[in-house]
Amino acid sequence: MDDRPNEHQPSRALLKLSGESMSGEGRTGIDADCLTQTARELSAARERCPAGLAVVTGGGNILRGATLASQGVVDRASADHMGMLGTIMNAVALRDRLDRLGVPSAVLSAVGVRGIAEEYTRRRGLELLDEGRILILAAGVGSPFFTTDSGAALRAAELKCGRLLKATKVDGVYSADPKKDPAAQRFDTITFKDAIERRLKVMDLGAIAMCEEHGVELVVFDFLTEGNIAKVVGGDPIGTRVVPG
Ligand code: UDP
Repeated sequence: MDDRPNEHQPSRALLKLSGESMSGEGRTGIDADCLTQTARELSAARERCPAGLAVVTGGGNILRGATLASQGVVDRASADHMGMLGTIMNAVALRDRLDRLGVPSAVLSAVGVRGIAEEYTRRRGLELLDEGRILILAAGVGSPFFTTDSGAALRAAELKCGRLLKATKVDGVYSADPKKDPAAQRFDTITFKDAIERRLKVMDLGAIAMCEEHGVELVVFDFLTEGNIAKVVGGDPIGTRVVPG
Protein backbone atom coordinates (compact mmCIF):
# COMPACT_ATOMS: atom_id res chain seq x y z
CA MET A 1 0.00 0.00 0.00
CA ASP A 2 1.42 3.31 -1.01
CA ASP A 3 0.58 6.13 1.37
CA ARG A 4 2.39 9.01 -0.25
CA PRO A 5 0.50 12.28 -0.56
CA ASN A 6 -0.57 13.38 -4.01
CA GLU A 7 1.29 16.63 -4.47
CA HIS A 8 -0.74 19.26 -6.26
CA GLN A 9 2.17 21.50 -7.11
CA PRO A 10 4.98 19.21 -8.10
CA SER A 11 8.52 20.54 -8.22
CA ARG A 12 10.46 20.95 -11.47
CA ALA A 13 11.18 17.52 -12.89
CA LEU A 14 13.88 15.94 -14.96
CA LEU A 15 12.79 12.80 -16.75
CA LYS A 16 15.40 10.29 -17.85
CA LEU A 17 14.10 8.44 -20.90
CA SER A 18 16.02 5.37 -22.03
CA GLY A 19 16.54 4.81 -25.72
CA GLU A 20 13.91 2.09 -25.61
CA SER A 21 11.24 4.76 -25.24
CA MET A 22 11.97 5.58 -28.89
CA SER A 23 12.28 2.06 -30.25
CA GLY A 24 9.96 -0.11 -28.20
CA GLU A 25 10.99 -2.73 -25.67
CA GLY A 26 14.05 -4.75 -26.67
CA ARG A 27 14.17 -3.19 -30.12
CA THR A 28 16.58 -0.86 -31.88
CA GLY A 29 16.21 2.23 -34.04
CA ILE A 30 13.40 4.76 -33.82
CA ASP A 31 9.80 3.63 -34.21
CA ALA A 32 7.19 6.16 -35.35
CA ASP A 33 4.46 4.93 -33.00
CA CYS A 34 6.74 4.86 -29.95
CA LEU A 35 7.96 8.33 -30.75
CA THR A 36 4.42 9.67 -31.07
CA GLN A 37 3.36 7.94 -27.88
CA THR A 38 6.33 9.33 -25.93
CA ALA A 39 5.78 12.84 -27.31
CA ARG A 40 2.06 12.71 -26.40
CA GLU A 41 2.92 11.62 -22.89
CA LEU A 42 5.44 14.42 -22.58
CA SER A 43 2.85 16.91 -23.71
CA ALA A 44 0.43 15.72 -21.03
CA ALA A 45 3.24 15.67 -18.47
CA ARG A 46 4.19 19.28 -19.25
CA GLU A 47 0.63 20.38 -18.50
CA ARG A 48 0.89 18.83 -15.07
CA CYS A 49 4.18 20.44 -14.08
CA PRO A 50 4.20 24.22 -14.50
CA ALA A 51 7.49 24.37 -12.59
CA GLY A 52 9.19 22.95 -15.68
CA LEU A 53 10.07 19.69 -17.38
CA ALA A 54 13.49 18.63 -18.64
CA VAL A 55 14.16 15.35 -20.45
CA VAL A 56 17.47 13.54 -20.81
CA THR A 57 17.51 11.19 -23.77
CA GLY A 58 19.32 7.85 -23.60
CA GLY A 59 20.73 6.21 -26.67
CA GLY A 60 20.72 2.48 -26.04
CA ASN A 61 18.28 1.93 -28.92
CA ILE A 62 21.02 3.12 -31.26
CA LEU A 63 24.28 2.22 -29.60
CA ARG A 64 25.80 1.57 -26.18
CA GLY A 65 29.47 2.41 -26.00
CA ALA A 66 30.40 -0.36 -23.58
CA THR A 67 28.76 -3.01 -25.78
CA LEU A 68 30.44 -1.86 -28.98
CA ALA A 69 33.83 -1.54 -27.28
CA SER A 70 33.52 -5.04 -25.80
CA GLN A 71 33.09 -6.39 -29.31
CA GLY A 72 36.46 -4.88 -30.22
CA VAL A 73 34.98 -2.75 -33.01
CA VAL A 74 36.42 0.56 -31.76
CA ASP A 75 37.97 1.64 -28.48
CA ARG A 76 35.79 2.67 -25.56
CA ALA A 77 36.17 6.42 -25.95
CA SER A 78 35.24 6.29 -29.65
CA ALA A 79 32.35 3.96 -28.90
CA ASP A 80 31.07 6.37 -26.26
CA HIS A 81 31.36 9.27 -28.68
CA MET A 82 29.16 7.26 -31.05
CA GLY A 83 26.76 6.53 -28.20
CA MET A 84 26.44 10.23 -27.46
CA LEU A 85 25.58 10.86 -31.09
CA GLY A 86 22.77 8.35 -30.65
CA THR A 87 21.32 10.36 -27.78
CA ILE A 88 21.39 13.44 -30.02
CA MET A 89 19.49 11.57 -32.75
CA ASN A 90 16.81 10.63 -30.22
CA ALA A 91 16.60 14.22 -28.99
CA VAL A 92 16.19 15.56 -32.53
CA ALA A 93 13.48 12.98 -33.26
CA LEU A 94 11.62 13.87 -30.07
CA ARG A 95 11.83 17.60 -30.81
CA ASP A 96 10.44 16.98 -34.28
CA ARG A 97 7.48 15.01 -32.90
CA LEU A 98 6.77 17.62 -30.25
CA ASP A 99 6.87 20.32 -32.97
CA ARG A 100 4.27 18.38 -34.94
CA LEU A 101 2.05 18.23 -31.87
CA GLY A 102 2.49 21.97 -31.32
CA VAL A 103 4.30 21.48 -28.01
CA PRO A 104 7.13 23.95 -27.37
CA SER A 105 10.48 22.28 -26.79
CA ALA A 106 14.17 22.84 -27.36
CA VAL A 107 17.28 20.66 -27.54
CA LEU A 108 20.54 21.51 -25.81
CA SER A 109 23.48 19.22 -26.43
CA ALA A 110 26.46 18.70 -24.13
CA VAL A 111 28.68 18.43 -27.22
CA GLY A 112 28.72 20.92 -30.07
CA VAL A 113 26.51 19.99 -33.02
CA ARG A 114 26.12 23.42 -34.56
CA GLY A 115 23.24 23.63 -37.01
CA ILE A 116 21.41 20.78 -35.26
CA ALA A 117 21.10 21.97 -31.67
CA GLU A 118 22.46 24.65 -29.37
CA GLU A 119 25.24 23.72 -27.03
CA TYR A 120 24.28 23.27 -23.38
CA THR A 121 24.91 25.95 -20.85
CA ARG A 122 23.16 26.02 -17.52
CA ARG A 123 22.03 29.57 -18.07
CA ARG A 124 20.40 28.76 -21.42
CA GLY A 125 18.80 25.67 -19.93
CA LEU A 126 17.18 27.68 -17.15
CA GLU A 127 16.02 30.28 -19.66
CA LEU A 128 14.30 27.69 -21.86
CA LEU A 129 12.64 26.06 -18.85
CA ASP A 130 11.36 29.44 -17.72
CA GLU A 131 9.83 29.89 -21.19
CA GLY A 132 7.77 26.76 -20.52
CA ARG A 133 9.50 24.62 -23.12
CA ILE A 134 10.19 20.95 -22.64
CA LEU A 135 13.97 21.06 -22.39
CA ILE A 136 15.51 18.05 -24.13
CA LEU A 137 19.09 17.43 -23.03
CA ALA A 138 21.29 15.37 -25.33
CA ALA A 139 24.76 13.80 -25.11
CA GLY A 140 24.72 13.09 -21.37
CA VAL A 141 27.55 14.88 -19.61
CA GLY A 142 29.44 15.25 -22.89
CA SER A 143 32.33 12.92 -22.01
CA PRO A 144 33.01 9.25 -22.65
CA PHE A 145 32.99 6.75 -19.76
CA PHE A 146 29.72 8.20 -18.47
CA THR A 147 26.11 7.25 -19.05
CA THR A 148 22.99 9.30 -19.53
CA ASP A 149 21.99 8.41 -15.94
CA SER A 150 24.96 10.44 -14.77
CA GLY A 151 23.98 13.21 -17.18
CA ALA A 152 20.47 13.17 -15.74
CA ALA A 153 21.68 13.48 -12.14
CA LEU A 154 24.09 16.28 -13.02
CA ARG A 155 21.54 18.29 -14.99
CA ALA A 156 18.84 17.79 -12.36
CA ALA A 157 21.16 19.32 -9.77
CA GLU A 158 22.24 22.16 -12.08
CA LEU A 159 18.78 23.07 -13.34
CA LYS A 160 17.09 23.21 -9.93
CA CYS A 161 15.01 20.10 -10.50
CA GLY A 162 13.68 18.73 -7.24
CA ARG A 163 13.06 15.35 -8.82
CA LEU A 164 14.80 12.96 -11.16
CA LEU A 165 12.27 10.55 -12.65
CA LYS A 166 13.91 7.49 -14.10
CA ALA A 167 11.77 5.66 -16.64
CA THR A 168 12.47 1.92 -16.61
CA LYS A 169 10.82 -1.33 -17.68
CA VAL A 170 9.94 -2.34 -14.11
CA ASP A 171 7.53 -0.67 -11.75
CA GLY A 172 10.08 0.32 -9.14
CA VAL A 173 13.07 -0.86 -7.14
CA TYR A 174 13.16 -4.48 -5.95
CA SER A 175 15.33 -6.31 -3.43
CA ALA A 176 16.41 -8.65 -6.27
CA ASP A 177 15.72 -9.01 -9.97
CA PRO A 178 11.95 -9.76 -10.06
CA LYS A 179 12.36 -11.61 -13.37
CA LYS A 180 14.78 -14.09 -11.77
CA ASP A 181 13.63 -14.18 -8.15
CA PRO A 182 9.88 -14.57 -7.52
CA ALA A 183 10.43 -13.67 -3.85
CA ALA A 184 11.87 -10.25 -4.77
CA GLN A 185 10.31 -7.51 -2.67
CA ARG A 186 9.26 -4.19 -4.19
CA PHE A 187 9.89 -0.98 -2.24
CA ASP A 188 7.52 2.01 -2.22
CA THR A 189 10.28 4.08 -0.62
CA ILE A 190 13.93 3.37 0.02
CA THR A 191 16.78 5.56 1.27
CA PHE A 192 19.74 6.53 -0.88
CA LYS A 193 21.98 4.88 1.72
CA ASP A 194 20.16 1.55 1.42
CA ALA A 195 20.07 1.72 -2.38
CA ILE A 196 23.84 2.29 -2.48
CA GLU A 197 24.80 -0.18 0.26
CA ARG A 198 22.61 -2.97 -1.07
CA ARG A 199 23.77 -2.20 -4.60
CA LEU A 200 20.19 -2.26 -5.82
CA LYS A 201 19.93 -1.74 -9.55
CA VAL A 202 18.50 1.77 -9.46
CA MET A 203 21.01 3.82 -11.47
CA ASP A 204 24.78 4.16 -11.69
CA LEU A 205 26.22 4.57 -8.20
CA GLY A 206 27.72 7.93 -9.13
CA ALA A 207 24.35 9.21 -10.30
CA ILE A 208 22.61 8.08 -7.09
CA ALA A 209 25.30 9.71 -4.98
CA MET A 210 24.93 12.97 -6.88
CA CYS A 211 21.15 13.00 -6.33
CA GLU A 212 21.66 12.39 -2.63
CA GLU A 213 24.31 15.08 -2.26
CA HIS A 214 22.25 17.73 -4.03
CA GLY A 215 18.85 16.97 -2.54
CA VAL A 216 17.29 15.62 -5.74
CA GLU A 217 14.58 13.07 -5.03
CA LEU A 218 14.74 10.04 -7.29
CA VAL A 219 11.68 8.16 -8.53
CA VAL A 220 12.03 4.91 -10.47
CA PHE A 221 8.91 4.00 -12.42
CA ASP A 222 7.63 1.91 -15.30
CA PHE A 223 7.15 3.89 -18.50
CA LEU A 224 5.68 1.01 -20.48
CA THR A 225 2.30 1.53 -18.80
CA GLU A 226 0.45 4.17 -20.75
CA GLY A 227 -0.10 7.40 -18.83
CA ASN A 228 2.66 6.79 -16.28
CA ILE A 229 4.94 9.56 -17.54
CA ALA A 230 2.28 12.23 -16.99
CA LYS A 231 1.36 10.66 -13.65
CA VAL A 232 4.87 10.64 -12.25
CA VAL A 233 5.71 14.12 -13.57
CA GLY A 234 2.42 15.34 -12.07
CA GLY A 235 3.45 13.97 -8.66
CA ASP A 236 1.15 10.93 -8.48
CA PRO A 237 2.53 8.25 -6.17
CA ILE A 238 3.75 5.60 -8.57
CA GLY A 239 7.04 3.71 -8.66
CA THR A 240 9.69 3.72 -5.92
CA ARG A 241 10.89 6.93 -4.30
CA VAL A 242 14.53 7.06 -3.27
CA VAL A 243 14.84 9.56 -0.44
CA PRO A 244 17.41 10.88 2.05
CA GLY A 245 17.63 9.09 5.37
N1 UDP B 1 27.36 8.26 -23.33
C1 UDP B 1 28.60 8.79 -22.97
N2 UDP B 1 28.64 9.83 -22.06
C2 UDP B 1 27.53 10.35 -21.50
C3 UDP B 1 26.28 9.79 -21.85
C4 UDP B 1 26.22 8.75 -22.76
O1 UDP B 1 29.64 8.35 -23.44
O2 UDP B 1 27.64 11.28 -20.70
C5 UDP B 1 27.30 7.19 -24.35
C6 UDP B 1 27.60 5.80 -23.80
O3 UDP B 1 28.29 5.08 -24.79
C7 UDP B 1 26.21 5.22 -23.61
C8 UDP B 1 25.47 5.79 -24.79
O4 UDP B 1 25.98 7.12 -24.90
O5 UDP B 1 26.20 3.80 -23.62
C9 UDP B 1 23.97 5.81 -24.68
O6 UDP B 1 23.56 6.23 -23.41
P1 UDP B 1 22.88 5.21 -22.33
O7 UDP B 1 23.58 3.88 -22.40
O8 UDP B 1 22.87 5.88 -21.03
O9 UDP B 1 21.41 5.08 -22.94
P2 UDP B 1 20.12 4.31 -22.35
O10 UDP B 1 20.59 3.04 -21.70
O11 UDP B 1 19.49 5.21 -21.35
O12 UDP B 1 19.23 4.10 -23.54
